[in-house]
Amino acid sequence: MNHQKTVNHPDGRIVRTTSAYDCGGRCPLRLHVKGNQILRVEGDDAPEPNQLRTCLRCRAYKQYVHHPDRFLYPQKRVGKRGEGKFERISWDEAYDTFIRQLDRIKATYGNSAILLATGGGYLASLHQGGLAASRLLNQYGGYVTHYGNISSEGAVWASLTQYGSVMVGHSREDMMNSKLIILWGWDPARMISGTNTMYHLIRAKENGAKIIAIDPRYHDTAATLAHQWIPVYPGTDTAVMAAMAHVMITENLHDQQFLNTYTVGFDAFADYVLGRQDGVEKTPAWAAQISGVDADTIQTLAREYATTKPAALMDCQGPARSAMGEQYNRCASTLCAMTGNVGRPGGSAGGGLMGIPVGHMFRQSAIPPGKNPFEADGPNVKGTLDIRMRVKKRIHINTLWDAILEGTKGGYPSEIKMMWSMCNNYVNQIGNSNKADKALKELEFIAVSELFPTATARYADIIFPVTSAAERNDFTRPWPSGPYFTVINQAIEPLGECKSDLQIASELAERLGIEGFNPHSEEEWLKILFDNNPEYTTHIDDYEAFRQKGIHRIDLPEPIVAFRDQIKDPQNNPFPTPSGKIEIFSRRAADLDNPACPAIPKYLPTAEDRFDPLAEKYPLQLLTPHPRNRVHSELYLVPWLREVEEHRVWINSKDANARGISDGDPVQVFNGRGTVALPAFVTERIIPGVVAIFEGSWYDPDENGVDRGACANTLTRDAYSGGGACVMNTSLVEIKKVQGSA
Ligand code: SF4
Repeated sequence: MNHQKTVNHPDGRIVRTTSAYDCGGRCPLRLHVKGNQILRVEGDDAPEPNQLRTCLRCRAYKQYVHHPDRFLYPQKRVGKRGEGKFERISWDEAYDTFIRQLDRIKATYGNSAILLATGGGYLASLHQGGLAASRLLNQYGGYVTHYGNISSEGAVWASLTQYGSVMVGHSREDMMNSKLIILWGWDPARMISGTNTMYHLIRAKENGAKIIAIDPRYHDTAATLAHQWIPVYPGTDTAVMAAMAHVMITENLHDQQFLNTYTVGFDAFADYVLGRQDGVEKTPAWAAQISGVDADTIQTLAREYATTKPAALMDCQGPARSAMGEQYNRCASTLCAMTGNVGRPGGSAGGGLMGIPVGHMFRQSAIPPGKNPFEADGPNVKGTLDIRMRVKKRIHINTLWDAILEGTKGGYPSEIKMMWSMCNNYVNQIGNSNKADKALKELEFIAVSELFPTATARYADIIFPVTSAAERNDFTRPWPSGPYFTVINQAIEPLGECKSDLQIASELAERLGIEGFNPHSEEEWLKILFDNNPEYTTHIDDYEAFRQKGIHRIDLPEPIVAFRDQIKDPQNNPFPTPSGKIEIFSRRAADLDNPACPAIPKYLPTAEDRFDPLAEKYPLQLLTPHPRNRVHSELYLVPWLREVEEHRVWINSKDANARGISDGDPVQVFNGRGTVALPAFVTERIIPGVVAIFEGSWYDPDENGVDRGACANTLTRDAYSGGGACVMNTSLVEIKKVQGSA
């Protein structure tokens, strides 16, 4: 094994690096490069058990980097807005146009008319588009932007409410200590929630752990590993959990000593579960009517979970991307506490985030963006659970289109006239793509920094072509787990005239006369980012060796267990909540006086759940899970990955038969927001009454408004829950067979 950053040999060189996709991994890659071309991709060459297995998506990395549709030169729009017709221009023309429009909009409407839309399209320390652009616009006088992330806002709110922390996970090897693992709305085989999660799950199963999957779909992880699949209707998980709590309380299976020692507010939750609050006992029979899970199954599951020690209830973020999403994560955490599994090896804390406090993406260093003058007179939102405060000066991410269309009349912070978008494909990836089409056609100017002609880029007036991670140097971190740090080592020179986001922002700053915007070279920045991050300096002695190897793996003396110290020694290690304990009842939530954020976790009916009268017209619940062959909407154009799986809508045979639909038939899925066209996948792997379209396929409406790209978000709602979760998985639809092609 040769750990040099770049190894030369007669057929080219091998560069140790990683990608920067918004996946769960940032896995080590070895790129075989000749000239300025990536020829081949190999994965990690570390021996067992440390090898981080490359998934199919990075195996196709060369087809992503060298895709013929990449923007290699600046472009200007030549067709109608949204048509996606562009013509090559020079960087001078692109910059001049951008600055002319920026100055005009600032002079006419003020800085608050400038929307900076940034996302997690690529995640690293230095070249993370949004950071450079916000640093620039902060020095330009400010801008308006959005709040919240599409994936995990419900889980973040739940974990902060219950534990006061988002580091609620165990390192994955701890699953070897579990006797029972419940995958509740979690399919790590597809969404790579930590690179080696499947490896450790398989080892845990071989070690004798029982695995139960609870999900509306018999998903890939369930099909591969689960001993039992319990199908459940979307949005009803919390009802099942409340009924499990009912069984535990009435059969005295809960760990009262644990609850007395480490929690506050269990009595209030028990009152709710036993119906002392509202007269409705949350019995298994009650939950069965709501969830479709029969009462006996709920009862057996509750007994099994309460009596098998240790047991890991692994809730995630898919069910939390719904209209009462945070209740699911809070209720999961409550069950973890009721069974005494919090802080124990082989157990779990719930909370849906699974993050560990070492090597976590949230603790990555970054170039400092500075303060946004537009937000200077806003409320202090540090630590608040009140989403209403957070959207005073910002826009919730899932109402971006409404904010453009409604402005201050709709209660939004400003009147938006232009958008600079980067590192995202929001037309595709937030709710209600048809509303995005309408909103973006209203704007006076749109600039998009992009690699590909995405659904969002099609609306641009100016395109800034951006380098891929293969064309730059950087540091990266995995999403939730690891623990490891990775390095992006530049493999090839920038293709065409592509530039990094930092270079674009720096050159714009120079033209805008902003002095001292970027005082450092890329290498200087990287060393500063390294030196300023205590995690790097604690764990890594040799900076150059880290760069050379492309990865630093952290040796753990024992698996990381969330809240181990709080459980071992509660006197000296209080939970970081106001009470110092796990807050099953949250005073902070109670003080919000918001029925959508109750003080204890509750099952709450919502608009577009299966009991909404709208279900008479649109009787099917839509799920929009992670695709296997894309990272959200990234990699959509990569030919090898398109071969992996046809984009189809999953529908149960019962629902298909009722509509005369056979497997492979062209169908249209529709509701009041839009219509998508795609083939049907008729399967028993999804519960009747529910259909699934994997997120990330690119929005592509035809002249009749039918989305031929079948973007799942053409059908989803643009709203958010009380805790700030995007509500994509609370959307009702109907489906019909069509003649000819879909
Ligand atoms: S998990 Fe992410 S970084 Fe790892 S191989 Fe897959 S796409 Fe690449």
